[in-house]
Amino acid sequence: MTAQIINGKAFAGTVREKVAGHVARLKEEHGITPGLAVVLVGEDPASQVYVRSKGKQTVEVGMKSVEHKLDADTSEEDLLAVVDQLNNDPDIHGILVQLPLPGHLNEDLVINSIDPAKDVDGFHISNVGLLGTGQKSMVPCTPLGCLMMLRDHHGSLSGLDAVVVGRSNIVGKPMAQLLLGDSCTVTIAHSRTKDLPDVVRRADIVVAAVGRPEMVPGDWIKEGATVIDVGINRIERDGKNKLVGDVDFASASERAGAITPVPGGVGPMTIACLLANTVTACCRANGLAEPEGLTA
Ligand code: NDP
Repeated sequence: MTAQIINGKAFAGTVREKVAGHVARLKEEHGITPGLAVVLVGEDPASQVYVRSKGKQTVEVGMKSVEHKLDADTSEEDLLAVVDQLNNDPDIHGILVQLPLPGHLNEDLVINSIDPAKDVDGFHISNVGLLGTGQKSMVPCTPLGCLMMLRDHHGSLSGLDAVVVGRSNIVGKPMAQLLLGDSCTVTIAHSRTKDLPDVVRRADIVVAAVGRPEMVPGDWIKEGATVIDVGINRIERDGKNKLVGDVDFASASERAGAITPVPGGVGPMTIACLLANTVTACCRANGLAEPEGLTA
């Protein structure tokens, strides 16, 4: 079998178009412009690239983009004051504090100081609890993007066996909750899982979020399974820098029914879902109907 490629880049374009349509309607019918604020502490080069990209795409869909760039040695008190100011700003509907934060800052404390209704990353403990109990929440962007692609490919996910490899708070755990919410039978695998190949071979849906280049080979994949590769790993091959996923794409695509490539799969969906979460947060804040197809 040669797998169908799930084109995350194209899908993300469709999500952004939907978001732009909702933004235009919010402006026209209600005079409201959704606003997203991104807070960056320090000068981590990868974080700077992400923040630039987020700001650019926010403006492209017609939303207001605000960036707060703070020095690496900013005190916790000063950072919390910025978050507090954004919490109280009625023009800001989404707040994202770019992680990782410099070591002297307590990430949990900072994330949990964001108003949960504006927590468009979905990392606030209240949103984690709401998602875990099947209630309306802000959903972490990367798993939300994966869910959207899976729903689009399968229609209903009900009754499918899903294996999520990785149990991080930002990808693995929320991904498993979302799949459970869509009535999959879910297994979460991690570094202590016994006989990982056997566990993965049982899955109709495999979500790999490990951070190890090409760790999942094709012969772990059940014939016809859907493979969502969250991994982004920079490696050097044949003297060139290359981005690869956690799945060995070449061998897995011979057995899977459908697979996301790296790059061009899950990656572009993450920012698109951030924009989707911001427009959802804006609608909720204003008591308006939420955009369809952009939430979990
Ligand atoms: P973490 O490092 O936080 O978590 C990795 C998980 O993988 C852990 O639960 C760990 O298990 C598990 N793991 C590690 N080694 C093995 C192994 N040999 N066998 C089975 N499980 C293993 O990573 P993240 O969840 O933050 O990210 C995962 C990947 O996704 C990374 O490549 C990251 O770059 C990428 N990513 C991509 C995004 C996107 O936009 N596309 C967004 C976020 C992340 P244990 O808990 O036991 O240690």
